This record gives sequence, structure tokens and C-alpha cells, in this order.
Amino acid sequence: MTLRCPYCHGDVDETKAVCAACRAEAHSACVLELGRCAACGCADFEHILEDDGWSVVDASPGGSRRHVAFVRVAPRELATPGATSLRLDLARREHHEGGVLVGEATLSVARSEVLGALRVELASESTRSGFLGLLARRTRPLRALTLLGRGRGLYAPGTYRASFRLPLEGVPATRDEPGAPEHERLILSMRLDRRGGALVASGEVRVLARRAPALA
Ligand SMILES: [Zn+2]
Ligand SMILES: [Zn+2]
Repeated sequence: MTLRCPYCHGDVDETKAVCAACRAEAHSACVLELGRCAACGCADFEHILEDDGWSVVDASPGGSRRHVAFVRVAPRELATPGATSLRLDLARREHHEGGVLVGEATLSVARSEVLGALRVELASESTRSGFLGLLARRTRPLRALTLLGRGRGLYAPGTYRASFRLPLEGVPATRDEPGAPEHERLILSMRLDRRGGALVASGEVRVLARRAPALA
């Protein structure tokens, strides 16, 4: 019997992802592109592109495993001269609802150093003009995951690269129209604890409303 990928309908060979909920088998590349199971919609997978180094990590702020992300850590590269630094690169700043946020973190460690885990958080910062024009600000974490390390640990000198794909399923469209009473910013931030001050990097992203109704 030949298995068909529920996303692209092509044959599924040995490189596959298995949905943890409905057991559907799909191409790992299709799962990474769609960010969820094309058969049942859940985002929890086993055996995803293990050959290519992708793994599934919990991305729920409360650890409820309602949201997952795909993470791939590249082999450490040789040290480059300079100071220890952290950089965030996002493939795109604008996404449609239900899209996948693609980014890469680059940590350059100049000399052996004890550092914390590299954490990524996607948060919504909303500002509402209220009574007498006072501004009320509210920050709501939407996704949280660890890219490197588990806690404090010794990092050898070198360059560490971690790629991530963060499915935006359930993240509402950003409300930042001019003149709107409530403004919202979606901030993706990275933080790595370090003696003498954390290394941080962040970028703003937008989620655009779907124009056409989603196909069932
Ligand atoms: Zn496929
Ligand atoms: Zn499924």
C-alpha cells in the first residue's frame, strides 16, 4: 500500500513525519511548510526530519504543549574574533493568519563562558487609550520556547546557529490600523542570561488577516 501525503498528495517515502494525534504520515518538508497536520490540524509530530536535525519542541507559554515549534541546531562553527553577541534574523516580517514564522538565531561566543538557555518569546503588546486619554498597556505571551541549552551551562567558543519555525495558528491578525482605539505590536524577542546583563535581540512581526475564507 502506498501512503499519500495529506498535504501535497505525493507518495510518502521513508522521510516522513507522523502526526501524534491522528497518526497520519506526511512529508517532513510539508509539515514544516504548513506548520500543522494537513489531516487533523494538530501541530504535534513525531519523527520529523530527524535526518535533517529538526525536532519538535513545546512552544506554549504555560508548558501546556498546545503549541509546538520546529527547531534545528547547526553544528558549532569555529570561533570568530570579536565580542560575544546574539543576532536574530527573520525570513519575513509579515505573515498571514495560520502562517509559519521562520527565523534564525546566531550566538557568537568569543571565549568559554557560562551562559543561560537561549529563550524565544512571541508576545502581543497592546495599548488602549482609555479614560482621560490614559494609555493602558498589556503584554500577553503567545509562544515561548528554548532554542539552545536547558539552564546555565558552559558554552565553548564558537558560533551557534539555531533555526526555528513557529506555526502562527491561533495568533490573531495584528490590530494596528491608524486611528484604531487599540494598537497591538507583536514582538519576537530572544534572551540569554549572562553575568553582567542578558544578551537580547528582538524584532517586530505582523499577522495579516486572511483575505479569502479558509478552505475546509
Ligand atoms: Zn507532502
Ligand atoms: Zn493529525
